[in-house]
Amino acid sequence: MRYISTRGTAPVLGFREATLAGLASDGGLYVPEAWPTLDRDAIAGLAGLSYAETAAIVMQPFVGDALDPGELRALCDAAYGRFSHAAVTPLVQLDHDRWLLELFHGPTLAFKDVALQLLGLLFERFLTGTDDHLTIIGATSGDTGSAAIDAVAGREGIDVFMLHPAGRVSDVQRRQMTTVLSPNVHNIAIRGDFDTAQAIVKALFNDAAFAGRFRLSAVNSINWARLMAQVVYYFYAGVRLGAPDRAVAYAVPTGNFGDVFAGYVAAKMGLPVARLIVATNVNDIVARALAGGDYSRGLTVPTATPSMDIQVSSNFERLLFDLGSRDGAATAAQMGTFESTRAMRLTNVQLAGAAPLFAAERIDADDMTMAMRWACDAAGQVVDPHTGVALAAARRMAPGTPVVTLATAHPAKFGDAVERATGIRPTLPARVGDLFDREERFASLPGTVEAVGAYVAERAVARA
Ligand SMILES: *Cc1c(COP(=O)(O)O)cnc(C)c1O
Repeated sequence: MRYISTRGTAPVLGFREATLAGLASDGGLYVPEAWPTLDRDAIAGLAGLSYAETAAIVMQPFVGDALDPGELRALCDAAYGRFSHAAVTPLVQLDHDRWLLELFHGPTLAFKDVALQLLGLLFERFLTGTDDHLTIIGATSGDTGSAAIDAVAGREGIDVFMLHPAGRVSDVQRRQMTTVLSPNVHNIAIRGDFDTAQAIVKALFNDAAFAGRFRLSAVNSINWARLMAQVVYYFYAGVRLGAPDRAVAYAVPTGNFGDVFAGYVAAKMGLPVARLIVATNVNDIVARALAGGDYSRGLTVPTATPSMDIQVSSNFERLLFDLGSRDGAATAAQMGTFESTRAMRLTNVQLAGAAPLFAAERIDADDMTMAMRWACDAAGQVVDPHTGVALAAARRMAPGTPVVTLATAHPAKFGDAVERATGIRPTLPARVGDLFDREERFASLPGTVEAVGAYVAERAVARA
């Protein structure tokens, strides 16, 4: 499989190179040159397979000849062997039509582990036997950081620099990052919000000399391999609920649009998807864009769902590109307008393309709280606030279609917010251990490209 940039001018890459690069050199994002498809029989054939078996089959067309099938399967076994539930991503029934898809059984208790555990292994596999050294730079609103750090801590040939907005991530989230003391892990608290952190990372990538000297790579969901790994659980859940004979809707708590874009890819590959319900909190840029075409950013409002407190959804560009007839020049112009004026409009073609599949819901704090209480009272399930946002949106669907709500974090990761909403204090699972007793280590920097760039340059390994 070959990968092309959404902005049309970066080199076309194979899977290995696209994975190692993350962001495209023209500022765009890599997408497969064409969507592979699984026919009805192939989808029916997934019934009863384990998660790792399903993953290897769904991902093989994207990987192409970069790995042989046996090798890909072994990496899937290793990545998903670290999950604490035998089903990896179990389905839990809530009522007649509604299910939770629990994506938080990985080492850091959020769905980011599903993709990042695999990505860490892919990086290692692709670097082994080369002299390459990778410098991973990422910005996190909370969960990506810990999942990425867990996936690469102590691995040869990789340094990871992770920026988080100071004071805007939960204690559990921060400690899951800052208590990892491996020498290749560098945590940075920056003054500013998540969008500031993400803009710094983008600027460093766009500095070609800097990016080349340190071989920068991304683990944010701008990395294609991450989205690829997330396509798997849409198939896994869909098949368990009747695909290919029955279409299922998915309610997805959305921030950077990576998770729900993976659902779009699953639909493109042939999975019958009744709806993709894009659930945002009051930071609703994506909901507004899909509902009326207005893609304009406001100020980020801090909420109980920090992983969705985002005003610029990187992966939305992939959807715009695909819906806009895959015209790289047009996408570059559209994103250029957005970057310079903080606003742009979707074209009629893009809106018409999105309408049959996507529904967008903006969920405020009251709606979220009500959904979290409903889950407790009606189904005996304690859900985290992000899941609560998606569940509130799922409950707005008319009955009759099965709706799977993606449960993206373990409730104990956001214990204070869960307790406020439900009165129940969820306990941290034993596998996270003595998180609150461990030493923390991180740097505090101003939210500027210069400060972060200098910090990285002092510590990263430059190319020979
Ligand atoms: C990252 C995250 C999200 C948002 O996912 P995107 O792919 O950025 O849309 C939702 N919930 C939780 C718990 C997350 O960690």
